[in-house]
Amino acid sequence: MADERSGNDLMERPVIFDLPSALRSQAVVRLSLASVSIAAWLVTTHLLGLERLAVLVLGAVHLGYAAAMLLVARLPRQRVRPWMGYLTATLDPLVLTGWAVVMGRAAVLIAPLYVFSAIGYGLRTGNKRMMVLSQGVSLLALVALPFIAAFWREHLLIWASCVISIVAIPGYVGVLMDQLHQAIRFAEYESRAKSDLLARTSHELRTPLGGISNAAELLLQENEPERRKTLASTVLTLSGHLLADINDLLDQSKLSLGKVEMAATPMSLRQQLDVVRASVESNASARGVAFLSVIDPRLSDHVVGDAHWLSRVLINLCGNAVKFTEFGSITLNVTLLQEQPDSYLIRFSVKDTGVGIPKQQQERIFDPFVQLLGARRPQGAGGVGLGLAISKQAVELMGGSLRVHSEIGMGSTFWFDLRMPRAVVPVDPRDDPESVLPAAQTQPQRRLLVVDDNETNRYLLQELLRREGHHVTTAASGEQALEILGEARVFDLLLLDYNLGGMDGSMLLQTYRFGTRKPAPAYFLTADATLVTTSKLRDTGALGVLTKPVRLRELRRAIEAACGGGAQAARAAGDEEAVRAAAAASSAASPVQLRPVPVVFVDMAVIDRLKQIGTRQLFVKELLERAVADIEASTLRILDALGESDLKTARDAGHALKGVCMETGAMRLMNMALGLMRTEDAYLLDNRARIAAELRDTSARTREALQGIVAESMEQAAGF
Ligand code: ADP
Repeated sequence: MADERSGNDLMERPVIFDLPSALRSQAVVRLSLASVSIAAWLVTTHLLGLERLAVLVLGAVHLGYAAAMLLVARLPRQRVRPWMGYLTATLDPLVLTGWAVVMGRAAVLIAPLYVFSAIGYGLRTGNKRMMVLSQGVSLLALVALPFIAAFWREHLLIWASCVISIVAIPGYVGVLMDQLHQAIRFAEYESRAKSDLLARTSHELRTPLGGISNAAELLLQENEPERRKTLASTVLTLSGHLLADINDLLDQSKLSLGKVEMAATPMSLRQQLDVVRASVESNASARGVAFLSVIDPRLSDHVVGDAHWLSRVLINLCGNAVKFTEFGSITLNVTLLQEQPDSYLIRFSVKDTGVGIPKQQQERIFDPFVQLLGARRPQGAGGVGLGLAISKQAVELMGGSLRVHSEIGMGSTFWFDLRMPRAVVPVDPRDDPESVLPAAQTQPQRRLLVVDDNETNRYLLQELLRREGHHVTTAASGEQALEILGEARVFDLLLLDYNLGGMDGSMLLQTYRFGTRKPAPAYFLTADATLVTTSKLRDTGALGVLTKPVRLRELRRAIEAACGGGAQAARAAGDEEAVRAAAAASSAASPVQLRPVPVVFVDMAVIDRLKQIGTRQLFVKELLERAVADIEASTLRILDALGESDLKTARDAGHALKGVCMETGAMRLMNMALGLMRTEDAYLLDNRARIAAELRDTSARTREALQGIVAESMEQAAGF
């Protein structure tokens, strides 16, 4: 029972801070006090020897004032105005002062009433200004008292104690009132936020749920297998969104209640990046956006931290980047900022080339349930505006702080720095996918034709395949390839670069297949891992697409798929469909992977791999020298073309530059080349000078780094 009553009490609006009720109860107190005091003084005046007339006049004024104010306070609520409060806050201390003058030595009893009255204004009305007004008038009156009444002149110590109380007590109450107001505002905000949460939650969850039940209903009525498949996958996608939204809501509530504790267990940063890539990459390529993850090669150790929350935050940030980027690329960088014997300071950043976020909104987006209007999100992208709020709180719990830098139309970068203890974990050779590959020479020898207009790429692929024991022929252009194919030489497999300059790979393949009875199977090589391109290439009759940089594992799988038992038997029978089916499984399974690369000018992991590929000692030296020359030539072409505003030539040269850079691990320069290829004309033209200067500088530094590597490897070779 008691509980029930207190519940009801809580639901009633408190009378405190309600002006009409406050004025009314003050009026009642005023009138009662006035009547009691006047009666008492009238009886005792002759004992104290006071002037009866003065007491009578003041008593009559006080009673009249109190009665009038009671009438005012009884006005209907809507007619009660704040000025009435200010008026009584001024008059009350003045009436008190009247008494303090006429009461002789008994006036000392009046002093506490000043404080009582001032605090009453503050606490009853909740209006601090009214209290300050009453306090100010009281103070002025008190200051005047010694000049008016002999008693106060003669008792300056009592007077001083009154002045101190009227200054100090309401002053202190004022401070407490501010805090009370703040607590009230916070409670109101919380309660509004909770209702908001409820409203939004039901709306946001109902949307996918509605979709799911519609699709399920249609599924029941549908007989055609293809349609059923589409509907079932709609149900799956929508339930995925629903699940993600529910997880967001639960995480947000756990975080805001302070119920989350970060684990501290050893983890591999590379593995976390793989997790992030696995969950973001397919969405990115479906939108035609490149996704790169770049890890500083100096970060070789395992670290201690909370793997779940770290990947959760990175997936959130990368997921947003994909949602709000229509063209270009997304780069997840993990950079070492500072190395200490027992810890790393690491910067995690996610950079996109998307729509960007207006400056004035950049604070707000970290608040729960904020979704900016105008940020065009793909249909059904999901999200209830909690991703950044969750990420921000999680990063803070990990000891960092989530920040953003963004410009409208230029993309956004979200980043945070974490100090992570280094963990000592024995190196597991299974961490390196290449190291578990069986030794070369175990596959049968195949006759392969490699067509690539980029000399560095061609050379690299040739070396890689020769090392595997295959017989490799190379061609530098589509025309040259057709010539070789026209010589009636037999090939088991063609590896065709898609972007061949003049005649592109798909045109080459179609020309070759037209008029050839049993054409050799072909794979395209491309750095452009977008779905659009991929499906376009598959339509040309190729077996599949290998994404550059091609890794040995994928190459082996592709060769096995195209030339292995099943495919060969089918080809012998002239059944092209069966060949494709035999190869399809492995080409579909072949991962579209972009390796983690560093932010330094050259990724040493790529160079190390190149060193492993080369059978001859001079291989890496020759390859890198060629690359340096290629880079220099392409850079000059771009700079000239930019100078003449010839954007087509600049982009073509950018394409060539990107190819060389990718194969030699020159990732920074590669990103610039990619940027050049994908940036809008107007922006390129406006920023020509800056872009040219950056390119010149990065190109020079990259060449310097590559030359340094050549010199170093020569020194090592000489040392042996
Ligand atoms: P949600 O993704 O569910 O909308 P978030 O809290 O993750 O919620 O993001 C809040 C808002 O911030 C988004 O709705 C969007 O307007 C903006 N935003 C977040 N990330 C980006 C980004 N990379 N580019 C542009 N806008 C972004």
